[in-house]
Amino acid sequence: MREVCFCGWAGEVEDRRPIYGGDGEWGLVCPDCGRLDRLHYLREEARRRTLAEAARRQGARQAGSLTEPRAAPVSLGAVAGVARP
Ligand SMILES: [Zn+2]
Repeated sequence: MREVCFCGWAGEVEDRRPIYGGDGEWGLVCPDCGRLDRLHYLREEARRRTLAEAARRQGARQAGSLTEPRAAPVSLGAVAGVARP
């Protein structure tokens, strides 16, 4: 789902940061301006799914930032093979 914030940020709804908004409700905050969106326009189930996906993506991002990017080891033989006429 595509979302555009008034601050100009555009991206997937799930790419925003899940945050506890109080009253037992969670929302997503814009990574740029921090505006909290409680997703009241979504049905209960869709909201839960969206929040779960946002949490999963955030977890994946954090895990990625803690480890080196897993670049595929370049095979020298393959590179030489390509370069060879
Ligand atoms: Zn924003």
